[in-house]
Amino acid sequence: MRKDMIRYGQQEITKDDINAVVEVLMSVNLTQGPKIEEFEKSVEDFTGAKKAFAVNSATSALHISCLALELGPDDWLWTSPNSFVASANCALYCGASVSFVDIDPDTYNMCPISLEKKLIKAKYQGKLPKVVVPVHFSGQSCDMKAIYELSRFYGFSIIEDASHAIGGKYKDRVIGGCKYSDITVFSFHPVKIITTGEGGMALTNSEKIAKKLELFRSHGITRDSDLMTKEAEGPWYYQQVALGYNYRMTDIQAALGVSQITRLVKYVNRRHELAERYNNLLKDLPLKLPFQLSDCYSSFHLYVIRLNLESIGPTHRKVFESLRANNIMVNLHYIPIHLQPFYKDIGFSKGEYPEAEKYYTEAISIPLHQSLSFDEQDFVVNCLIKSLEL
Ligand SMILES: *Cc1c(COP(=O)(O)O)cnc(C)c1O
Repeated sequence: MRKDMIRYGQQEITKDDINAVVEVLMSVNLTQGPKIEEFEKSVEDFTGAKKAFAVNSATSALHISCLALELGPDDWLWTSPNSFVASANCALYCGASVSFVDIDPDTYNMCPISLEKKLIKAKYQGKLPKVVVPVHFSGQSCDMKAIYELSRFYGFSIIEDASHAIGGKYKDRVIGGCKYSDITVFSFHPVKIITTGEGGMALTNSEKIAKKLELFRSHGITRDSDLMTKEAEGPWYYQQVALGYNYRMTDIQAALGVSQITRLVKYVNRRHELAERYNNLLKDLPLKLPFQLSDCYSSFHLYVIRLNLESIGPTHRKVFESLRANNIMVNLHYIPIHLQPFYKDIGFSKGEYPEAEKYYTEAISIPLHQSLSFDEQDFVVNCLIKSLEL
């Protein structure tokens, strides 16, 4: 057995990254200095979005995005049950209600047909959502054009949870440009494509939304005379005009982001190379491999296989445990959010989103990251074949 653990995802930190961070540590500003704007500018340039706001996590970015879209206690937010809990929790932070739209059985993304059916019913019941949060699962975009068209008809706003998807494309456009949404959110947690330790970002093309994101990120405090109720009383003056939070990113983190983003395209290319290699090595096994739409270019945050349980002896759990026993840190993305005890307590139950629930009984995320070697990948494939007991 190998001594080294092979993780499903992990960061790569180079000497340049370390030097960039040390430079900030030796400077005057550890936070609220020039690196934040530099990082925001680099993401604006990469995505084409007009304004980007760096924050301390994607969870915070989702929260201030909901606030900027004025989501409140009488409102509904809909998202995918096949996501990290943060995609839904952001609604509850605002006192709003949350519901889910089941996934497409091939892409594991929010299904636009299920969305439309649910909208028709919700309109009849007078319970239309104010905000819909499509999650670009594993780095492949949702069908944003279809979701956007539904948003025009039913009058909801869209936040793309692109925590997995920086570096991916949809219809030849880089994800993050907000062509079909009001706001796009990225995560820079170490398992994601590029990292700042902890960190996230909210991007928008709307001036109005941008002003609100900026306010909610930092206590609801402003020095912008346009946003103040009266003229400044002096050079020290600022006003708190809303209830905001301290969700700021530090310059230490932003410097790491500025350094990491220079390797983003290389990382995504490498992930594609590894994914294609998996596709070839695994194609004859009783597995469902990641389905790629022709108008999408995934960032390949995750490589998810689904076991064909009718064709193999061992259970899903046994295959998973056998890989873990070989020090392969496979994972499962995701336990359907509505099956979490907290969500059951607020009224959700098993059977409500059957595609997400079925997917959960078959899925395994096998290792895929920029530092994975072909040798390690071969080891994963061999262990996987053994674990299927064919
Ligand atoms: C990682 C993740 C988040 C939360 O990101 P943080 O930066 O850790 O707060 C939200 N949504 C999805 C889909 C994620 O994968």
